[in-house]
Amino acid sequence: MARVALVTGGTRGIGEAISVALKDMGCKVAANYGGNDEAAQKFTERTGIPSYKFDVGDYDAVAAGIAKIGEEVGPIDILVNNAGITRDGVLAKMTLEKWNKVLQTNLTSCFNTCHAVVDGMRERGFGRIVNIGSLNGQAGQYGQVNYAAAKSGIHGFTKALALELAGKHVTVNAVAPGYVETEMVRAVPQPILDKIIKQIPMGRLGKPEDIARAVVFLAADDADFITGSTLSINGGHHMY
Ligand code: NDP
Repeated sequence: MARVALVTGGTRGIGEAISVALKDMGCKVAANYGGNDEAAQKFTERTGIPSYKFDVGDYDAVAAGIAKIGEEVGPIDILVNNAGITRDGVLAKMTLEKWNKVLQTNLTSCFNTCHAVVDGMRERGFGRIVNIGSLNGQAGQYGQVNYAAAKSGIHGFTKALALELAGKHVTVNAVAPGYVETEMVRAVPQPILDKIIKQIPMGRLGKPEDIARAVVFLAADDADFITGSTLSINGGHHMY
């Protein structure tokens, strides 16, 4: 039977590539998004994958969204926590609002979604959770204390939850992308981006499909001995 997958932030950028790759792998996919209805509608028209709007940082909205997906698509076997945002600025100038928003959307979201799916995964004796971290959560980045803290938190969260679920055939892993060509990275000023590309041994930004490939690998039925690991995909940009 086809596995059911939920990809948060699954309608654009890296998430879109992950949604499509999981569909190509034979899964029934549900893609979540936060607010961009137009992008979500076009994504659904393009791919045939249904999209579900809810804020991953809102515990109750996540519980309701996942219940709806359960009814309409099926109980979730594969959860990809991909939704994320940046609100950059040096600490001295960072507002508490920017701090909280990034932590809520990038990290608390993982608690919210996992809380809604782990009981079902344990009962059914199968689950794959893949959390999208970041090179900047591994290495830190100027102007990103909020984002680096949230992504670093994802790496710790992944290992702790992997230990809790290891006996239940539920694996929990992380993928840590380096710089990937999406709208998030297009927001970085070009001179800074040029400097970053010079630091990447492969000499290019990643493509969303480069990351999707890793998620598909970790989500496979036969990836059942891989848990608590982080797969770094960054063109050799720092060797984490
Ligand atoms: P994009 O900005 O291109 O897409 C973000 C996706 O997340 C969109 O679908 C967006 O929905 C969704 N989203 C944002 N906030 C929420 C929310 N509160 N609730 C639900 N969905 C939300 O991002 P990328 O594809 O670049 O990034 C994907 C992930 O990869 C993120 O976690 C990011 O931190 C991580 N990453 C990205 C890197 C890069 O270089 N691009 C590098 C390292 C990590 P909507 O369309 O409605 O706004």
